[in-house]
Amino acid sequence: MPLEVAEKAGACFGVERALALVERTLDEATGPVATLGPLIHNPSVVDELASRGVRAVDEPPHAPGTTLVIRSHGVAPEVVELARERGLRVVDATCPYVKQAQRAAREHLLAGRQVVVLGEAGHPEVDGILANAPGAIAVTKPEDLGGLQRGVSVGLVSQTTQTTERFARIERALREQGHEVVASRTICAATRQRQEAAVELSKRVDEMIIIGGRNSANTTRLAKLCAKHCPTHHVEGPKELDPRWFKAGMKTGVSAGASTPRAQIEAVCRAIEKLLGEGGEGPWQSPS
Ligand code: SF4
Repeated sequence: MPLEVAEKAGACFGVERALALVERTLDEATGPVATLGPLIHNPSVVDELASRGVRAVDEPPHAPGTTLVIRSHGVAPEVVELARERGLRVVDATCPYVKQAQRAAREHLLAGRQVVVLGEAGHPEVDGILANAPGAIAVTKPEDLGGLQRGVSVGLVSQTTQTTERFARIERALREQGHEVVASRTICAATRQRQEAAVELSKRVDEMIIIGGRNSANTTRLAKLCAKHCPTHHVEGPKELDPRWFKAGMKTGVSAGASTPRAQIEAVCRAIEKLLGEGGEGPWQSPS
């Protein structure tokens, strides 16, 4: 087949769930609906929601009766409290895997451990985890551990998109510094699975098309990884496909970031098939 979609591609469980919750909210809500920040890193999805009246806001609005959707990254518990104080209805679309990380941080704190979160401070998911365990610190490398009190017991938690290798490096560094460590490997496999499948495909095709928002870190990373093996183009939708990329007889691979809904993959696949002069059943039914 001249067109093949990576075995794992596109919207992850948490994103699918958040999108479904917004759809249900739109069906049921009697007042305005807003999301706290853009629902996902995908401009066409965010624009489409905006065209249906769903605003992305920076903080809980002062408009009682509004339904506020918390996106899959999660937020600090105080933000939900503030929203409720302002008379908002809260729909929590925090991914259950992120909730698990938040819960682990809280449990470590209650057990009297210093909480260390592997992840970048300032990222909404990491800030949400930190807010669940006051006093917790975020680190990305062993050198960031310098400020820890000597000998203190540590509860180690991860941002869901970190790698197991990086987690193991931090855990090892903590033990070498003499800390007792209770590790909660709160890492989600979705990002790694998409990367592995895309790289495997990129080694077997003449070019790769990666679909997803340019503001999506995991989509950009997919494109970078594939570009090591074959010419790779990152597009947000079918309109960005350049006919000059497609030549008779060539094999094209497709993958998409964890914030790219299936419908977008389908639309791009159909457009590529037209450019390749193909018809019939597309390969877009396979990604998961
Ligand atoms: S990448 Fe994993 S943790 Fe993040 S939203 Fe998707 S399923 Fe949830």
